[in-house]
Amino acid sequence: MSNHISPARSLNAFNCSRCKVFAKQDWFFLTGASQPSGFGAQYQNDEFVLSKCNSCGEPTIWHGQSMIYPLHATAELPCEDLPEEIQRDFEEARRIANLSPRGAAALLRLALQKLCVHLGEPGKNINSDVASLVTKGLPPKVQQALDSVRVIGNEAVHPGTLDLKDDQETVQKLFRLINFIAHKMITEPREIDEIYSGLPPDKLAGIANRDSSK
Ligand SMILES: [Zn+2]
Repeated sequence: MSNHISPARSLNAFNCSRCKVFAKQDWFFLTGASQPSGFGAQYQNDEFVLSKCNSCGEPTIWHGQSMIYPLHATAELPCEDLPEEIQRDFEEARRIANLSPRGAAALLRLALQKLCVHLGEPGKNINSDVASLVTKGLPPKVQQALDSVRVIGNEAVHPGTLDLKDDQETVQKLFRLINFIAHKMITEPREIDEIYSGLPPDKLAGIANRDSSK
């Protein structure tokens, strides 16, 4: 999850838009032919390029810096431990991220607000919610990261509103931050609980005794 590299025109390897595997990509300029056999008049425009994945062999098509096919596959998938409603917002943001980064960012700030509520915070002020989550184990650097994408801090944008400054980079960071927070605050505690509850009953009793004798 944390190693997801979104496809970009400048990269020779990324998580493929088709198979999702991190793989080397071969780049080609697209050429058009007036005959299906490839004979006849040829047309080429350097703006249109294709990256071919070395893992699945499928093409991703670009116009300039923008991926134009497939349309909704640049972002990582939502963390499976996110509540269903937030996963739906996340998926919707993934579908529109290429066409409307501002729309996607607005949805993601809303999803983040819902995540704060899910984690037991009031959800009225993301700034104070995140500060509270830091006291519960969220790394303090997440605050700076959220500041950099204008979720909290001086230039914070209200969840659900459009921000002129939102671009692809901001949107990709928001996807990653939501998954990171879900992983830290939901997945990791669950995994530790699973390890703990897998202990034999006499061990658990021993731990209980030790803790109560302190
Ligand atoms: Zn692939």
